[in-house]
Amino acid sequence: MQLEFLGTCAGMPSKHRNVSATAIRRSDAKGWCLVDCGEGTQHQLLYSELSLHHLHAVLITHVHGDHCLGLPGLLATASMSGRTEPLTLVAPKDLRVMVEAVQAVTRTHCNFPIHFLAIEDWSGQVVVGDFRVDITELSHRVPSYAFGFNEIPRRRQLDIQRLQREQVPAGPEWGRLQQGEDVALSDGRLLQAEDFLLDPGPPRRIVIAGDNDRPELLTGAVEGADVLVHEATYTQVVADRNDNRPQHSSAEMIARFAQHAGVPHLVLTHISPRYGDGPRSQPALSELEQEARAHYRGTLFLARDLARYQLEPDRQLRPL
Ligand SMILES: [Zn+2]
Repeated sequence: MQLEFLGTCAGMPSKHRNVSATAIRRSDAKGWCLVDCGEGTQHQLLYSELSLHHLHAVLITHVHGDHCLGLPGLLATASMSGRTEPLTLVAPKDLRVMVEAVQAVTRTHCNFPIHFLAIEDWSGQVVVGDFRVDITELSHRVPSYAFGFNEIPRRRQLDIQRLQREQVPAGPEWGRLQQGEDVALSDGRLLQAEDFLLDPGPPRRIVIAGDNDRPELLTGAVEGADVLVHEATYTQVVADRNDNRPQHSSAEMIARFAQHAGVPHLVLTHISPRYGDGPRSQPALSELEQEARAHYRGTLFLARDLARYQLEPDRQLRPL
């Protein structure tokens, strides 16, 4: 599974970071899903290899503008570039109103059908693109959600070492075994397919969360998850300065949660534009990173725009 960050800034874009958008896809597939679509996401796509023709679905975590205002433009461009394949849109109900209103006012005709799935009507796991997706409700100023992406296992791999050890000649029999068929060899041996197929292990799982000020709401969602992608809008000092309830998580809050829940990989995104990347930036992004590292001992990444990560078959997340 691969992640590509198209926008990692909170609230408004900065010179180096656009507003929220994250792509997820199977490593062996062209099709992809987009989680959130802040304004300018289609511009970011021009710097990536992702194609609007292969976009299976757009999933919107919540209705705040920095997470969805890029959607009408992205849909219009997909249509103008000749897309005809249906597109799935998973979002809070109100998003449909926005998309239809913008299309009506701007006289935009979409050349492909949009299959709208309202999050409010969602239950259990639903197949979206190449994944089984489940939803967890979070805590924010408006209803906000996390999406759990579960890999749908493809064909099980053959145990080549065992086949060679037992001197099963390579040929069509190998293919039949991989299909799950028991095979009688010409030397009289009967091979049970189950003996020659590797255990695929539990499906890999990546959770991508929307804005959220109560990480503990993800306790069930991250059980067995390989990766959690979550906002870390600011450091705890800044969060404490906020008189009102902040509605966002600090680096410390999400790091403490991920450590406690045993999440092996944590990717932080949705970072306030006040944090600069430069060595003399004040405040510096490194403060946010240090705070997260002080409370989390798993593998941590602070996402940057256009950064890509791969969850390998050995379940390790590595930058590409
Ligand atoms: Zn928000």
